[in-house]
Amino acid sequence: MLDILRRIVQEVNLAKNLEQALNVIVTRVKNFMNVEVCSVFLTNELDNEYVLMATDGLNPDAIGKVRLNHDTGLVSLIATRAELINLADAVTNPRYQHFPEASEEGFHGFLGVPIIQHRKVLGVLVIQSTKIQKFSDDDETFLITVAAQLAAAIVHAEASGGISGLQQPNNKSQHEQEAKPIHGLPGAPGVAIGTALVMYPPADIDAIPDRFVDDVENEVKIFNAAVEAVAQDIKKLSERLKSVLPEEDRALFDVYLLMLNSQAMSGVTRDRIREGNWAPGALRDTIQEHEKVFREMEDSYLRERADDVRDLGRRILMHLQEESQNNIEFPENTILVGEDISASMLAEVPTDKLAGVISVRGSRTSHVAILARAMGISAVMGVTDLPVGKVDGRMLIADGYSGRIFISPSDKVINEFKILVEQEESLSDELMALRDLPAQTEDGIKISLLANSGLLSDITPSLQSGAEGIGLYRTEFPFMSRQKFPSEEEQRLIYRQVLESFYPRPVTLRTLDVGGDKALPYFPIVEDNPFLGWRGIRITLDHPEIFLVQIRAMIRASIGLNNLKILLPMISNVTELNEALGFIHQVYGELLEEGEEVVMPEIGVMIEVPSAVYQAGNLARRVDFLSIGTNDLTQYILAVDRNNARVAALYDSLHPAVIRAILQVVESARAHDIPVSVCGEMAGDPVAALLLLAMGIDSLSMSVSSLPRVKWVVRNVTRERARQILGDVLLLEDALSIREYLNETFEKAGMGGLVRAGN
Ligand code: PEP
Ligand code: MG
Repeated sequence: MLDILRRIVQEVNLAKNLEQALNVIVTRVKNFMNVEVCSVFLTNELDNEYVLMATDGLNPDAIGKVRLNHDTGLVSLIATRAELINLADAVTNPRYQHFPEASEEGFHGFLGVPIIQHRKVLGVLVIQSTKIQKFSDDDETFLITVAAQLAAAIVHAEASGGISGLQQPNNKSQHEQEAKPIHGLPGAPGVAIGTALVMYPPADIDAIPDRFVDDVENEVKIFNAAVEAVAQDIKKLSERLKSVLPEEDRALFDVYLLMLNSQAMSGVTRDRIREGNWAPGALRDTIQEHEKVFREMEDSYLRERADDVRDLGRRILMHLQEESQNNIEFPENTILVGEDISASMLAEVPTDKLAGVISVRGSRTSHVAILARAMGISAVMGVTDLPVGKVDGRMLIADGYSGRIFISPSDKVINEFKILVEQEESLSDELMALRDLPAQTEDGIKISLLANSGLLSDITPSLQSGAEGIGLYRTEFPFMSRQKFPSEEEQRLIYRQVLESFYPRPVTLRTLDVGGDKALPYFPIVEDNPFLGWRGIRITLDHPEIFLVQIRAMIRASIGLNNLKILLPMISNVTELNEALGFIHQVYGELLEEGEEVVMPEIGVMIEVPSAVYQAGNLARRVDFLSIGTNDLTQYILAVDRNNARVAALYDSLHPAVIRAILQVVESARAHDIPVSVCGEMAGDPVAALLLLAMGIDSLSMSVSSLPRVKWVVRNVTRERARQILGDVLLLEDALSIREYLNETFEKAGMGGLVRAGN
């Protein structure tokens, strides 16, 4: 059964559009289950009805015509209850509705299951038989499994609908102009209107997007060169194995060569290129088609040849990618799109060309989203339904406020968004007027507003935003954009530039925090549970040679300025802190011995795991300040992966448990008389910032784009009022109620605009 299921899903995923996908489903399910009818009904939300979209067994003319409203028929009952119905004789059921145009006469046995994705009923999958007999438990479970597996594929096919791969990207069909937006998660505020550039991992056939080419003959030449290069590779490989493999085993290489140069492989791919697709896209179609044919063969030997086809495809692709990697042309207003866009992929696009980023995986607190905020570009994350392979070169709108994507939008939609951008800019201008005013409440309580940084390019915006310093400089970002660990001197120069730019304001440099979702290309870490694994301080304590060099570079960079603070990430016990402090004192002593005029910087600990919350007092008495990293703290307290779009709705720093943890940390800092800041994304959320102010947090460090809004809130509230609001919030029991309560309070106070536009 698993095999059948896998094959159906694979075939559906390869379908070019929804109609094809649904036809595959009904035909395959009907045959496999040995029934007379299989049909799919899809929900039409607009008209609150369920429409027959595909059938194998009923009259095909009824497709699109059989429509059931939400209180008639069995299908609508399945959908509204989100429960299966299994009847020996559907005709005798009072809910049964007969549709003569579907030629439904003679069918009795009925089994229907809902198709559900993210709690939403997308439609209903139905099988019918001529027998008067209930379907078995096995039939029920099979159909449920098929429906569950197919939900994502259906959404995907629906989203691809109307986007034909080889259409010239700028030709908008009527259908496309009216296409619905695709929903993801807001990643970084702002609206990007630009051209999609799909980035994909090397040698991954299935990830290759379609791309339209003008000069097809040149593309054919590129393809021929790649095929020739692979032929040479195979010949060399065969030669090299001459001494270890007998002649007959090496015959496999001859088969490879034959396959490679065959009409079915190379010839068909060339034809596809001549239809307008670029070589990698044409190759993808050929390989997938062949692989499918082999996989469906009964003979197990032949079935395994599918792997050879894929291997050959991968080899050709590698050569093609070498060629294309050197020739990437970044359009003006590039919107970078990919399955899993990483911080380093973002760094590959020239900043003056980059308008936005869209990633199928990840969420608001993924590091690529944080980086996008630092760069002031919009980001939409977790867009699981985006047909990545079909959007390259297309005009897109990425709305980072609401998380919506528009593919090839109509002029009307573009104009609406242009107006939104203008409104946003004028709000920003208004807020920028507050730049040089203090972040002080109406009753005179001051809170420091600092900037989060990690790129040299965001120093200027940070300075212009009126930030009182850098509250968190993520040193891993300059590490990411290199080919090897930077030397002490390279690091010193980077840190010096930041410290000098902000002098005399404080700059908090955090020691290397890699691991989790932050990988260095030259220091790969492969783990099953990276967020619970070798991360942050755990790595640097295991590699003192990296840690000591970094601390030396930091302390030396501050000579004569003395505005450096050092922050230690991912501390989960006192021993780690003692060891880190030991190394810092060792470096300080050595530098003094070397005659350098160094000053011991203030040292702080990030509170970002639950154990550090419970031991905040023990940690506080050893250091000069605490900084709460709410991004990780939220993920670890709530056990919700900060990058996983599927559970993103559960990830909320306004969860009462997170709020209470922060309160506990503030109390510990107070008891030891040291300052405490918040440097996670929560600090830049205007409604959350109000609560943090009420708790007595001394400073908030955030993306510069959030700073003006938060300052506006601080300047328009009294500490007293903020405390009342915190008191009310502490009585609420879940994050949603807290957010609703805060939004309402903001609306009533005339500050709704700050909340609505995002942060
Ligand atoms: C945090 O975890 O809140 C934090 C500020 O660190 P990062 O987002 O870099 O993990
Ligand atoms: Mg963190």
